[in-house]
Amino acid sequence: MTHVTWTGAAGLRFQTEKEVILIDPYYTRVDIFNTLLRSITPDPAAINAALPDPEKVAAIVVGHTHSDHALDVPWIAARNNCAVVGSRSLDILMSLNGLPQRTRVCAGGESVTLTDTASVTMIRSAHGLVAMGKVPFEGEIRPSMTLPMKASGYRVGTVFAPMLQLQGIRFLHVGSANFEEKALQGHACDVLFLCVPGWKRRQGYPQRLIAMTRPSTVVLFHYDNFSKPHLPGTKTRPMPLIDMPGFIRAIQEYAQNVSVRVPDVGEVMEF
Ligand SMILES: [Zn+2]
Repeated sequence: MTHVTWTGAAGLRFQTEKEVILIDPYYTRVDIFNTLLRSITPDPAAINAALPDPEKVAAIVVGHTHSDHALDVPWIAARNNCAVVGSRSLDILMSLNGLPQRTRVCAGGESVTLTDTASVTMIRSAHGLVAMGKVPFEGEIRPSMTLPMKASGYRVGTVFAPMLQLQGIRFLHVGSANFEEKALQGHACDVLFLCVPGWKRRQGYPQRLIAMTRPSTVVLFHYDNFSKPHLPGTKTRPMPLIDMPGFIRAIQEYAQNVSVRVPDVGEVMEF
């Protein structure tokens, strides 16, 4: 049995009896003022509260390097001394944090063994067109950059939809509302995590994605307002103007046999 927790933004925590694997962990939840105007840094208190030591984090997988996906990763990787898998930009971000050569760098299509029972395939993907029809902060994080950076320094880098295979279950993490049809071919999954914001900007999202990956369960996530704190046990505050009901309707009308789940931040799901 795997316990999967949506930890806010595109963050997922997969927990088995033996280990914990994280995708896009982001606990700092920088407020909108600091996101727009100031340099940003991880919040150790927020991370420690959400992910207390000693937790058996075996690996961190990163879908892309925007700050709401990657800001906390070097800090957690340093504390937990765990494997990290992601893009060239992630490797540079790790190096800027004093952690060179700690990242398994992928370009798309690689399968990486994480533990005895877990592996991940880094399927090439695309970013949602969420900034007035465009991808925010395009380009790569560069070695010449210095920390701390503004959110705008956290360039997107290569975008992946990681397919985590854990104890025989295939979890596909689509952490931004877009996909690359060619790269997805032949990748069926059991559980499909779908980012909600930006869903109307990509034709065929979610229908084509579901047709290609044939999940039995779709889980909606990354719909929380991650520039506000999340208080444990409270209802998730959604981002404005994302039309959640319309998205759920679009999935249910297209795929009647698929079970759709809408967890709250912090909710634990069993698979
Ligand atoms: Zn992003």
